[in-house]
Amino acid sequence: MKICDQCRAVIFQENAPCPRCTEEKRLALEALVPQPAQPKWLKIAKWLLIGLVVTVLAAVAAITWLLNSLGPMPSFG
Ligand SMILES: [Zn+2]
Repeated sequence: MKICDQCRAVIFQENAPCPRCTEEKRLALEALVPQPAQPKWLKIAKWLLIGLVVTVLAAVAAITWLLNSLGPMPSFG
């Protein structure tokens, strides 16, 4: 057991790196590297696709309802 020189945290394994310092270094590196942002067009395309699916579903539902409400096709003759 030893005490970290940098953050005074207790390290249970003698030769292990300080977990607190390691975590801090990792966080600092993550802060430096910008997260890959999702392109704007991808977001728009996703919403367009969702809108299209909703429109198609609504159209199918409307056609089904229309056919049901019309009942059997009237027979002429
Ligand atoms: Zn440390």
